[in-house]
Amino acid sequence: MTIDATPRTNGKIHEIVVLSGKGGTGKTTMTAALASVAKNALGQGARGIVVADCDVDAADLHLVLGQGSHGGAETLETHPFISGDLAFIDPERCVSCGECATACRFDAIDASCRVRPELCEGCGVCRYVCTVDAVRMEPRRCGEWYLTETRHGPMVHARLDIGAENSGKLVTTVRNRSREAAEARGLQMVLTDGPPGIGCPVIASLTNADLALLITEPTVTAIHDLKRVRSLAAHFKVPCLVLVNKADLNPQLADEIRVWCAESGVGLAGAFGYDPAFTRAQVLGKTVPEADPALAPAFEAVWTTIRDALATEALAQHDL
Ligand code: SF4
Ligand code: SF4
Repeated sequence: MTIDATPRTNGKIHEIVVLSGKGGTGKTTMTAALASVAKNALGQGARGIVVADCDVDAADLHLVLGQGSHGGAETLETHPFISGDLAFIDPERCVSCGECATACRFDAIDASCRVRPELCEGCGVCRYVCTVDAVRMEPRRCGEWYLTETRHGPMVHARLDIGAENSGKLVTTVRNRSREAAEARGLQMVLTDGPPGIGCPVIASLTNADLALLITEPTVTAIHDLKRVRSLAAHFKVPCLVLVNKADLNPQLADEIRVWCAESGVGLAGAFGYDPAFTRAQVLGKTVPEADPALAPAFEAVWTTIRDALATEALAQHDL
């Protein structure tokens, strides 16, 4: 069974998030490859996808997918990412009493009564203790998010300022803006390159997604992290598929992954052996199917498995 690629009556946009738990398994490479064959793979009448780069601490998908000005892609929109507050002391009003510096638990106000932005947590205590109303709290700019036109369709991505926190909130921003971009253009799916690990940003990228594609490789650490990220997805009731990279690196561990998938009820979306085309694609700034078109059918087959899994889930939830 396959999912209908034509406009859906209920307007649902499916979100596929690509995760790995462990870094370095080829998550972004796989995401880029899938994005570049999506239109073909989704078939006649497909309206295409939006790509979301939720690896906001090290976003690099735009370097592979784009052609143009912003790191290789054409930036259509740039927006500030605002999160929390930052204290600002008005030197015209300040009488240098030092009360705020004494009260600040984060040592964020120096001897000259100036706020150190990198240490300020935005708690507002300084404003509370200041008797001459010299402190005001301002929205804190923590980075930017972008809507970019790539050669494979629109992409939403972001950049967190150095030292800035709250990447989970920025991930949520990228996801929300991606869905809005899909709605605005009548596109049917969001393909998300998720962050590494299993922390807050991963949870932000995973909750309420329709499916998680877990990229792994036959190594002990990758399998360990595969199981952890699958547990996380199961906790949030997000169905999973597994895609094995460099499957011929250790055939015994690759078999272990297959057995674990079968025993855990997790579908296998495919397996790729080590192929120099992956490295060649990175050197050329291309996706793998662009660097070696002979590999395109294998990635299209992954999409077929994803569509089938989505259709099964949708039927189970009476979504179609
Ligand atoms: S408490 Fe107010 S007046 Fe005193 S040093 Fe701080 S900002 Fe200046
Ligand atoms: S807002 Fe809080 S952390 Fe920031 S300077 Fe004021 S007291 Fe310190």
